[in-house]
Parts: sequence; structure tokens; C-alpha cells
Amino acid sequence: MEKGKIFIALDVGTKNEALEIVSDLRGLGACFKVGKQLFTSVGPELIKEIAGMGEDVFLDLKYHDIPNTVAMAGVAAASLGIKVFNVHASGGRKMMEAVRTELNKLENPPMVLAVTVLTSMGDEDLKETGIAVTPAEHVKRLAILAKDSGMDGVVASPLEIELIRGACGENFKILTPGIRPLSSSTDDQKRIATPSSALKSGADYLVIGRPVTKAENRRKAFEEILEEIKTVF
Ligand code: C5P
Repeated sequence: MEKGKIFIALDVGTKNEALEIVSDLRGLGACFKVGKQLFTSVGPELIKEIAGMGEDVFLDLKYHDIPNTVAMAGVAAASLGIKVFNVHASGGRKMMEAVRTELNKLENPPMVLAVTVLTSMGDEDLKETGIAVTPAEHVKRLAILAKDSGMDGVVASPLEIELIRGACGENFKILTPGIRPLSSSTDDQKRIATPSSALKSGADYLVIGRPVTKAENRRKAFEEILEEIKTVF
């Protein structure tokens, strides 16, 4: 998947709302992220439908369980025709290696990204779970573990990109949410970057939700983002 791809977060509760966003953006090269809300409400058929339209889908379910369960969930996800899914790196080496082993048996396996530390977790939250290092140190440790365990990359906030790029090298993929074009509202996001600055600092892919999905004219909002990132390439 080429650098600069943008995943539009389909953070809605119904099939109709999701398909309306997909159809508004068709033909512009957008990819689509389906998360826990939509997946739990609507189920896997919608994924097959969007993938069947030729669109690239990222299944954002952040699997975290025993190795066999996560590996088999990954195989099931792959059978829906998705291009990307993710797991929690804190599930550990054995879990991630089991995913890699099962995916390697497939002809065209999806990319697997690892979530390191949720950006909603601060120092105190980590301490409460028994982790005494700073979030940045833990992010770095988990990114290296994810790479060693065969993951293709990580999901990371704009502020973590340089740290991870430095620790994991050029070929490790980084997908970054928390993106806000200069013209849009920040909503509840705090640590944000513009699309072009995230790509310049080393992100490979971006996740963008509300600045596009809640825009009056979604197509125009997306085209403006494409225009902005052209300057990076
Ligand atoms: O609407 P917005 O652009 O804020 O949506 C960002 C998407 O990325 C949401 O689906 C959100 O759950 C996801 N995300 C995030 N920050 C993270 C991880 C995921 O915003 N650290």
C-alpha cells in the first residue's frame, strides 16, 4: 500500500450512514476504517460489501487475547477481504508471532499493525496498570517488540512518529490518527498534526474521521486534504 494513503474513520452506528460516506468519497483513493462501534452494530457483511466494491478496508478491532484466538481472528478478518487489521502489542511476542505464522499461510495476507500505548493513557494510568516507565518509553519498547514479532507496523500518535521511526527503521509502517487540517475543528483530539506535517515527520498512512465525515461537503473536504499533502511528495 503506497505511502500517503488516508483511512477515513467510519465512526457511525448504521450501515446506511457508513455506505453514504463511502459513496460520497468513491473514486478519490480514500481507504476506510471500520472500528468497534460499526462492526458491533452491523457485523462482517458490511466489511465484505465495502471490500467487494474494490475499496481498501482497515478493520480496527485491536485484538488482544491468547495467541491462538488472535491468530484465528486474524485469519477470519483476512477472509473478509480487508487490507489492514490491528492487534495490541501488549498481547506479547507469542501472540504476535502466532498471527504472523497464520497469515504467512495465506496467499495475499493483510497488513497487521500493532497498537502500542493507547493515546488516552497518561503516566498515572500506566502506573496504575503496573507499568513504571513513561508512556514514550513504553511505546518504544512495544514498537520494537512488535517489529521483532513480525508485525508490519504500528498505530501511533503524531508525537510518537519520530521516536518509532528512529527505533524501528524506514520499512516499518506507521499509521497516524489525530490528524486535523488547519481549517478544521480539533474536536476532542489534543495531540494533533496537519496531514502534511504528519507525513513529513515520517507517517506512512493517516486516519482522518470527523474533518471529512462531518464536513458539509465530504468530497470537497477530502480533496482539500489531498491538495495539502501533494506538497509532501
Ligand atoms: O474523528 P477523528 O479524526 O478524531 O477520528 C480519529 C479516529 O482514529 C477514530 O476512529 C479514533 O478512534 C481513532 N484513533 C485515535 N487516536 C488513537 C487511536 C485511534 O483518534 N490513538
